[in-house]
Amino acid sequence: MSSPRFEEINYFLKGNKIIARTLTRLIYRYASQIRLERIKIMNFCGTHEWTTVHYGIRSLMPPKIELVAGPGCPVCITPSSVIENAINIALEGVRVYTFGDAYRLPVTSKKLEAKSLEDAKSKGGDVKVIYSFLEAIRDAKRCKESSVFVGIGFETTAPGYSIPILNGMVPENLFFYSVLRLTPPAARYAINKAIEKGVTPVHGIIAPGHVSAIIGSKPWDEISRELKIPSVISGFEPLDVLYSIALILKMLKNGEYKARNEYSRVVEWNGNRRALKSIDKVFDTYNAFWRGIGVIPMSGLELRSYYNHLNAKKIFRFSDYDSRETSLPPGCRCAEVTLGLIKPIECPLFMKTCKPEHPYGPCMVSLEGACSIWARHGGRIIAKI
Ligand code: SF4
Repeated sequence: MSSPRFEEINYFLKGNKIIARTLTRLIYRYASQIRLERIKIMNFCGTHEWTTVHYGIRSLMPPKIELVAGPGCPVCITPSSVIENAINIALEGVRVYTFGDAYRLPVTSKKLEAKSLEDAKSKGGDVKVIYSFLEAIRDAKRCKESSVFVGIGFETTAPGYSIPILNGMVPENLFFYSVLRLTPPAARYAINKAIEKGVTPVHGIIAPGHVSAIIGSKPWDEISRELKIPSVISGFEPLDVLYSIALILKMLKNGEYKARNEYSRVVEWNGNRRALKSIDKVFDTYNAFWRGIGVIPMSGLELRSYYNHLNAKKIFRFSDYDSRETSLPPGCRCAEVTLGLIKPIECPLFMKTCKPEHPYGPCMVSLEGACSIWARHGGRIIAKI
């Protein structure tokens, strides 16, 4: 079979077996031309991990290629103290708005009456699951009670918060609890952690398509050039992921350390300028705590002081009392899973103490958590192409 050109493959990415087979052959060919015993490729989006697991993409890889999940689940890394603070006020009668993903997030404190926001609601706490910040705004305007919105997310979610805040849409009785985190600093941290731990280093990055729709492909290009690791901003269809892996291997083989944009139907080099401008006007970066991982420099977004009157941390005097050692329940290896150092099945509690119906650790809660994805869809699905 003659070698197809990448541009031709990209044009035909509509999902069929011929393309999948062609891409798989290319992956095998490029992998065989790279003089490395192991090639580790890390994704930074829970949806990429979902695609990889759900479609059995790992089973299509040559044995030397290892696909690992990175810190791509905002719920998994939300500090326990955030949920504990939210539980406390919910039990005191303040309405807490949360996305469904975080509703069942377990806390580590043994002192609290409730172990999650779901548990707090069952004990009479005022907790409401919503789909968007706008829904919380509408509800708060109606109920007029003091209320807090738990704003979890990465760059993708941030404009959904910054634009209503900027436009003065938030009522006086609704306060914003920022748990926003930034992906490029976490990517740098995870890549350096693998080197520090002496495990197989990361050789390629499948960069998050949704996040990049906001921040653009430029930040990934900077990381690639700085750390000498090729990256591809990828869409979420199985063929997108296969194509991105092939492209990473091609760049690795040729010694090209830069970012390429496979998701050009959505992502631009400089991202969404309007969204970025609104984020910058409303939020400031700070050294933020990632659950189980610790503090990552300049990896969080906090409301600027101009918005102190909306800031739940200021109004309710919330404190951050997390530490790396105590932010996960005993035995939970979520931090290593999140940093791509181990796979979920390497945790001894996986599908024993910790299951989707009874999550013990944070990575088993959200649909974007690697443990939850492996548990729900099977980490070892065999693809048939
Ligand atoms: Fe933590 Fe559960 Fe995942 Fe183990 S399986 S790392 S306990 S979330």
